[in-house]
Amino acid sequence: MADLVRRSAADLAAALAAGETSSVELTQACLDRVEAVDGTADSGIHAFLHVDAAGALQQAQASDERRALGTPASHLDGVPVAVKDLLATRGLPTTCGSRILAGWVPPYDATVVERLRAAGLPILGKTNMDEFAMGSSTEHSAYGPTRNPWDLTRIPGGSGGGSAAAVAAFETPLAIGTDTGGSVRQPAAVTGTVGVKPTYGGVSRYGLVALASSLDQAGPVTRTVLDAAMLHEVIGGHDPRDSTSIDAPVPALVDAVHSADVTGLRVGVVRELGGEGYQAGVRVRFDEVVALLTTAGADVVEVSCPHFEYGLGAYYLILPSEASSNLAKFDAMRYGLRVGPAGVEAPSAEQVMAATRAAGFGAEVKRRIILGTYALSSGYYDAYYGSAQRVRTLIARDFDAAFEQVDVLLSPTAPTTAFRFGERVDAPLAMYLNDIATIPANLAGVPGISVPAGLADEDGLPVGVQVLAPALADDRLYRVGAVIESLLRERWGGSLLDLAPELEVLA
Ligand code: GLN
Repeated sequence: MADLVRRSAADLAAALAAGETSSVELTQACLDRVEAVDGTADSGIHAFLHVDAAGALQQAQASDERRALGTPASHLDGVPVAVKDLLATRGLPTTCGSRILAGWVPPYDATVVERLRAAGLPILGKTNMDEFAMGSSTEHSAYGPTRNPWDLTRIPGGSGGGSAAAVAAFETPLAIGTDTGGSVRQPAAVTGTVGVKPTYGGVSRYGLVALASSLDQAGPVTRTVLDAAMLHEVIGGHDPRDSTSIDAPVPALVDAVHSADVTGLRVGVVRELGGEGYQAGVRVRFDEVVALLTTAGADVVEVSCPHFEYGLGAYYLILPSEASSNLAKFDAMRYGLRVGPAGVEAPSAEQVMAATRAAGFGAEVKRRIILGTYALSSGYYDAYYGSAQRVRTLIARDFDAAFEQVDVLLSPTAPTTAFRFGERVDAPLAMYLNDIATIPANLAGVPGISVPAGLADEDGLPVGVQVLAPALADDRLYRVGAVIESLLRERWGGSLLDLAPELEVLA
């Protein structure tokens, strides 16, 4: 079944339940696809940093045995998944895209990973990412970039470009990403996939290597909204090992997809997230989605969130501050790399730490550690970090006010389609600007989804539309996302990914 890899996870789950395929067959098909298109740092998609063929097949075998006994562990039992290399996986390397963690094999699973295993999803491997999830292009990976399946000369988004590209290139039906400022949603937008950032605290952060603890959240990357809902239900829910985990049941997300309807739903278009600075083709596709939702019965109005314009500034103080503190643990003593300073005979602990951090961290990580250390230093703390936290409160209040008027908010996910490699890697501000629309949700802890909105006229590349909902109302993302998806399928004659160019099979 050559097209097995192109089918949705929901479809595959049904096929497994009906006995039309086996998890071993399916997992092998994904592994073959990885072999055919993933390549290396120099060619191919390079979505994976580590492929665990033997482990995945063993898990698939166990899944088939459960099916034979009539005791599947979940609806997704036997459907393969790929995991961003930021989540700890017992027995599998976890590098966070950094040289400093080269060779580290965690002795434990992140809760998300534990839940994937408990639900019976074979783990194909670990996906590429910007180092420590800092970036919007995957060019900051210490192991070489991932390429966008739509155009191999372009970025797949970041920091979770590996997860999005793997799903878009039909290497895996499902993947896990993490979103601190947009790293699930922005890669989804530029690869034509679906990406969700759940409500902060909705998915456990235990075992997710922290970038900025008050912003980080893991979420699904998939080809359909239904698949995202199914995966979200597997990974979500309370975890006593994460003190910020919400002690409430996960809303009924799959039901929300099945009963999707926007009749009478109040949709707010965020005035500050559009217009100038957004690529023309992105705006055209976004306006089209607004028109389609209106025709489908939604009540669309414009709303203003006046403090969103300070979101980027606040984020780039809060994130580096938290990151500088979180990354202090990479001290050459506890994990991964250890480098002795050149020419020093009996180096002190400090000298080893300095040499290791100098060799182990890339330029972007160092830039943010310096920024964060400065922002937190005594005398400056209140002026920088303190102000940023106050802006954060104002942004949360903008959301509160907006959600008094409307049920969900709508904006383009990213201001541009996928840019070319090298275009922004030396211009950090230009790179940071790509997160302008996704960052407010992280600052306020509200959930967001990016759904394909079509292809931009000028470059034929995917555009994403973002839906934001109040905290804990993740079901609304799926309700609206599923409607957008079905309207777009009509408009484009099927799934956007079917319009992507065929990938060359590597020798
Ligand atoms: N691109 C953003 C950054 O560089 C978002 C990162 C993320 O969500 N992990 O910080």
